Amino acid sequence: MGEFELIRRYFQREHTVPNPAVALGIGDDCALLQPAPGMQLAISCDMLVEGRHFFADVDPEALGHKALAVNLSDLAASGARPLAFTLALSLPRADEAWLAAFARGLFALADAHGCTLMGGDTTRGPLNLCLTVFGEVPTGQALLRSGGRPGDELWVSGTLGDARLALEALQGRRTVAPELLPAARQRLERPTPRVALGLALRGIATAAMDLSDGLVGDLRHLLQASRCGARLDAATLAELPATRDAALDAPTRLGLVLGGGDDYELLFSASPAQRTAVLAAGSAAGVALTCIGQLEAESGLRVVDRQGQALATSRYTSFDHFA
Ligand code: ADP
Ligand code: MG
Repeated sequence: MGEFELIRRYFQREHTVPNPAVALGIGDDCALLQPAPGMQLAISCDMLVEGRHFFADVDPEALGHKALAVNLSDLAASGARPLAFTLALSLPRADEAWLAAFARGLFALADAHGCTLMGGDTTRGPLNLCLTVFGEVPTGQALLRSGGRPGDELWVSGTLGDARLALEALQGRRTVAPELLPAARQRLERPTPRVALGLALRGIATAAMDLSDGLVGDLRHLLQASRCGARLDAATLAELPATRDAALDAPTRLGLVLGGGDDYELLFSASPAQRTAVLAAGSAAGVALTCIGQLEAESGLRVVDRQGQALATSRYTSFDHFA
């Protein structure tokens, strides 16, 4: 199987879901993307490298899902509707079973979001995936990291810390009750991008981002962009992991949440006056929302216990490829 046969067989599908935004798809030198009038393109690119972002023996179907999911999560954080994506793929060999499973996972999620594969590149080399997603958002309405104001409440979607828990269990650094591991592992390997929530939060959230590297580090980016600080409630944070293993005490759960990573939930701020609208957006999108604290004028991040004592957060470092 040559390069072009591989592309034709696994990535150039004949029965794609109709997508008016893709004026020209795979097969020419360029694809042509046509956003609707009055819309801005929202663009994001994420690379996944074997040994760094996933294990060499990862289930290829889950990898296909996750490669697109982490990109759709960026569109969700911007309040953008997914339109299309490109796939640059470096493969050590043309393994047909691997490619078929990878394409299955990739296209199942793509079809669920009406997001069309419109082009890419395929080369031989170490396993490496680079996707670029294109979405659209009404001009001026994208959710940014910079709009938060002191007094705004801080919210997160879904549950946090379970992906990190699964990673530590798979690496043999932590033991988890065997019956609880599959659900945590799903969170690590098959994250759910919160696209519907991002769309529902347009005009409601003052600032938003997705959580990929861990709450402490990710939130700092939002605080810098919004030029303010934040106070978080430690007891609320400790309840965010879904995994209820008796061996996980509150400080451990807090650590998994603050220093976690791979959560792909949304973190956003909104005025307290918008509380009803926020909760309605969560129900419309079918995802639980938790208020974890608020933005403050004083810079820096404070995580406080029920007595109002600030806990040291310096040990909760987020993931950094070059740290
Ligand atoms: P070029 O030589 O112009 O770079 P290629 O020969 O690499 O183009 O690719 C031929 C066509 O197949 C192009 O339309 C390209 O976008 C598409 N393509 C290549 N690899 C992939 C892939 N992994 N997924 C989707 N489309 C791909
Ligand atoms: Mg060309």
